[in-house]
Amino acid sequence: MLGRLARYLRIMGYDTMYPNLGISDTELMEISRKEERILLSRDKQLCGRYKKSIFIDSDKIDEQIKQVTTIEKPMRELLFSRCAVCNGILVKGADNCREEYDPRKKESVYHCPDCGKCFWEGTHSQNILTKLESLKVYDEIKGE
Ligand SMILES: [Zn+2]
Repeated sequence: MLGRLARYLRIMGYDTMYPNLGISDTELMEISRKEERILLSRDKQLCGRYKKSIFIDSDKIDEQIKQVTTIEKPMRELLFSRCAVCNGILVKGADNCREEYDPRKKESVYHCPDCGKCFWEGTHSQNILTKLESLKVYDEIKGE
């Protein structure tokens, strides 16, 4: 249910695990505890059972991002450091890229060694940055 938020958090560089469907609340809490993770959930009852949790109240992505980043400040230098799809840490270069990319963008290509997905600077990343700026996720961006 929070898949879109998870993708945004990864793009911002948060180590974000998104559980498979069918995982039980108990398993989820066990993993969170073991890996010292913050549990994000839209389930108020579940959040009540786990101390390090954030209850996501809104179903609007902008408000969800705002809520999480207010509690856990993102680091600007980690932006675009993780794979939005699988949480892998991106590596610069297109050598192991398993996808087609615009050759003119070769210099800005990053790839995920875990799933082979490629990312590069373009309209999509610009849109994400614009969104995060409009949400004032990064204080220091103001006035740049
Ligand atoms: Zn990946």
